[in-house]
Amino acid sequence: MENKKYYITTPIYYPSAEFHIGHCYTTIIADAIARYKRLSGYDVFFQTGTDEHGQKIEKKAFDANLTPKEYIDPIIANAKDLWSKLGISYDYFIRTTDEDHIKRVQEIFKIMYDKGDIYKGEYKGLYCTPCESFWTESQLDEDGKCPDCHREVHEVSEEAYFFKLSKYQKKLEEHYETHPNFILPLSRKNEMLNNFIKPGLEDLCVSRTSFKWGIPVDFDNKHVIYVWIDALSNYITSLGYPDTKSELYKKYWPADVHLVGKEIVRFHTIIWPCMLMSLGIELPHQIFGHGWLIIDGGKISKSLGNYKDPREYINLYGVDAVRYFALREVPFGNDGNFSEEFLISRTNADLVNNLGNLVNRTVAMSKKYFDSIVSNPKVYKEEDDNLINYATMLPSIVDSKMDLLKINEVLEDIFELLKRSNKYIDDTTPWILAKDEKETDRLKTIIYNLLESIRISAVLLRAFIPDTADKIFKMLNTKKIDFDSLNKFGELEENIKLNEAEILFARIEKK
Ligand SMILES: [Zn+2]
Repeated sequence: MENKKYYITTPIYYPSAEFHIGHCYTTIIADAIARYKRLSGYDVFFQTGTDEHGQKIEKKAFDANLTPKEYIDPIIANAKDLWSKLGISYDYFIRTTDEDHIKRVQEIFKIMYDKGDIYKGEYKGLYCTPCESFWTESQLDEDGKCPDCHREVHEVSEEAYFFKLSKYQKKLEEHYETHPNFILPLSRKNEMLNNFIKPGLEDLCVSRTSFKWGIPVDFDNKHVIYVWIDALSNYITSLGYPDTKSELYKKYWPADVHLVGKEIVRFHTIIWPCMLMSLGIELPHQIFGHGWLIIDGGKISKSLGNYKDPREYINLYGVDAVRYFALREVPFGNDGNFSEEFLISRTNADLVNNLGNLVNRTVAMSKKYFDSIVSNPKVYKEEDDNLINYATMLPSIVDSKMDLLKINEVLEDIFELLKRSNKYIDDTTPWILAKDEKETDRLKTIIYNLLESIRISAVLLRAFIPDTADKIFKMLNTKKIDFDSLNKFGELEENIKLNEAEILFARIEKK
């Protein structure tokens, strides 16, 4: 039987400067979901990439005396290195400067034009001549001048192509109604409906003549295709669209989820679905708009420059500490706070005290009492119920919360098992039982229950902190690492010998 497919995307990021912890946040979440789905047996396609055209990059490159491509190539190489250090398991990295993408975007533009959904009109805007930039009213500085150079702007108009967004207003509203989970969290859906759709959709300017760094309209090449059609199309051009017979397209479209930051929810829930309706193809199942990671109180931003290279955190604290923090700290959908201090407290509390301690105590007891040999004589007592029942239920709790992408709660639930295991040690007092030979089988059972709880936690943690899970499997010397091994409590092999304990996370001293 063919596996069910799952197609997940991050936004394509704008590489006008080096990537920061905010980019990592979205990408780590997407990676954890992709890994979880793979472990659940799905055939996953996980895509990320970069949106490389536009005036801002053109200008930055010009100022640096480089071509745009020369300017962005090192940033992309650096981003790929960052993803590799974070263990991001993407299947495809799309760049909007890829030849395939360029050709396919031109075809998409032409399909919409031929259909009558794109027409030529006049674009009116506020223009700064020295900067060669269009601005909207809200972008101007306090004096109503150019936000870059603070000189006068003039109203000018240029010939441009427009997409008939207004034509799809009703269809879009219907789609929202008939697909209640199309936009999550629901608050974002209401925001879109009330602030943008109900007041009426206006046709959208989809080309420019004021800059050159973009994909030319191939039948009218003084125009370049503006960001909307260029960037949003990445989710289908990577699959071969407009070739609807392409294997990837047939297999993976429509996307199961587009993960996006809340600032671009509007483009993904209004412009993108209308484009797809115009093309006459299926809409993605879901757009999930997550909040921002607020760094030290202010929004992380390239222009504020208030961030460290994320690799510094990885080098200092380990990749799984960074991944765990991003996944655990923020209630998904809301804003969360990032600071190095929070990262340190979270690592010490959960990864060092809870997880690391439990594993080390248990492996050490097994070595001390039974020469690291695992066995389960099944001498149970009532005090085991709380632990075993929870460990047995946990996989299905995790699974249903993953469907809602409540990753922070999933981690909380998994760590609850570790917490209960630590308490189980305190309650059963193995060090007292060890003094009484009649209790040997009871003691073996207790150690087994602990090791099995650790194994179950590690299997469930594979998607989130994969390196740590692997270290635990190695210590447990177990081959039971797949989701199939979660069907019942007691799958850990008997008569295996544990490997030496190793420190999973070192305590971090506060600065
Ligand atoms: Zn200016």
